Amino acid sequence: MASKATTSGICYLVGAGPGDPGLLTLKGKECIESADVLVYDYLCNPEHLRYAKPGTERIYVGKKAGDHTLPQEEINKLIVKLTREGKTVTRLKGGDPVLFGRGAEEAAELHEAGVRFEIVPGITSAIAGPAYAGIPVTHRSHASMLTIFTGHEDPTKPDTSLDYAKLAQADGTKVFLMGVERIEEITGEFLKHGAKPETPMALVRWATHGCQQTLVGTLATMAAKVKEAGFKAPAVAVIGDVVTEREQLNWFEDRPLFGKKIVVTRTRQQASTLSKQLAHLGADVIELPTIRIEPAEDQLEFGQLVQDCHTYEWIVFTSPNGVDAFFTMFDKLYNDARSIGGARIACVGPGTAEKIKARHLAVDLMPEKNFVAEGLVKAFDQHQNMENVNVLWVRGAETREVIANGLTAMGAIVDEAIGYRTVAETEDNLEALARLKNEGADMITFTSASTVEHFLDLHVQLPENCKIASIGPVTSAAIKQYGFNVDVEAKESTIPGLVAAIEKFWK
Ligand code: SAH
Repeated sequence: MASKATTSGICYLVGAGPGDPGLLTLKGKECIESADVLVYDYLCNPEHLRYAKPGTERIYVGKKAGDHTLPQEEINKLIVKLTREGKTVTRLKGGDPVLFGRGAEEAAELHEAGVRFEIVPGITSAIAGPAYAGIPVTHRSHASMLTIFTGHEDPTKPDTSLDYAKLAQADGTKVFLMGVERIEEITGEFLKHGAKPETPMALVRWATHGCQQTLVGTLATMAAKVKEAGFKAPAVAVIGDVVTEREQLNWFEDRPLFGKKIVVTRTRQQASTLSKQLAHLGADVIELPTIRIEPAEDQLEFGQLVQDCHTYEWIVFTSPNGVDAFFTMFDKLYNDARSIGGARIACVGPGTAEKIKARHLAVDLMPEKNFVAEGLVKAFDQHQNMENVNVLWVRGAETREVIANGLTAMGAIVDEAIGYRTVAETEDNLEALARLKNEGADMITFTSASTVEHFLDLHVQLPENCKIASIGPVTSAAIKQYGFNVDVEAKESTIPGLVAAIEKFWK
């Protein structure tokens, strides 16, 4: 009997779900947020790690079949040691932690060591994988029983604990994990023991991920199909009549951008809105941030201009980043929202306006459709006489001079507050770059001229036939300037506009 827990440490054995970032439980997310150390596997989607607080230690322990970065005994020792040190340890495992996940063994070690642990179940690939391929594991007309087994055992070995005679004869659906490498032996055993050769069967690879692939056949044909397609692990296999439901329920792979690999080059912070919308339509997104937003070099000058903002008749914002920079400074200088005074606010487009509205401020002027600086200048021209009107323009260091030139030409007095600058993203992009190189891409998206320039600075070869999508005319001009074709240009220069144009392009 182990002694009662003596340290404040605790180890959460958490199921990270099958891959889709949305298929993590709320409790699992809380465990990631509260962790001092994250210990995670090959099949755990690394995207979940972003919930960790800054400074959280991350330990990758691998466990891709045949490539055990750390043997199981070492993993056991590691989590015991870390928990004993009084840490909150979150051990993330793909799918559910105790379904063929050795979670029980890890729990037993923790119990033995007398440290506290909790098991947080996860959504298993055994059920979610088929569901994302349009295959329900049970069904009133096809199957009222489900058997889940591991294909990792060698069925030709006499000491197998699996009774293929019983499995082959059992009613209902059979699902097995870790079986792609042994597909021939497993289906062979089923057939040998009297299962019908025409029994429908499917394999779902990287289920619930953007790159999910499904292979459909029968018990008799599947092994040959796997060979022919070069189908590899990780995959869930499902055997039974429920597979026929896929013909009508294949929702995930039927989405408009499914099978399209699309590169997003925005900043890490801003990428997610675009990535999410593309992923929602089924795209497999590679986030390759090429730029990063930094505070302007001259913070003193920027601060002085922001401090005087209430003395202007207009404050002009031409990017969401400008709004962020302005209010970060504003909040440092003032603790009363009314300090912005009576200045009216103009925005270049809806993305920028959203940010203003989030501060409970109204936008007084915005172009009707042409969401670029030229459009805003025109909107001013139509709106009022600008003679001697004081304008504060909040801009980035690299922003084109269109606003200053246009409004000055109309007689306005324009002060330029440089709130931020765009620099090359130097953070580790290796994973995204490797994906781009190995997997290629169907499309790359550019949301500003600076994303184009900084992408080219990376000296990455664009994959063959990779289409180029641009958010609007200014970005397109930058793309063309470097000798590339623009295949898709958003009608409306906004993220939803870009997404709509991409969807239309692939229709
Ligand atoms: N505990 C996990 C299973 C771990 S065993 C779970 O509940 O899902 C590892 C096997 O799970 C893989 O070999 C593969 O058969 C299956 N698997 C896990 N995630 C998968 C995914 N996203 N797509 C397909 N198969 C997956």
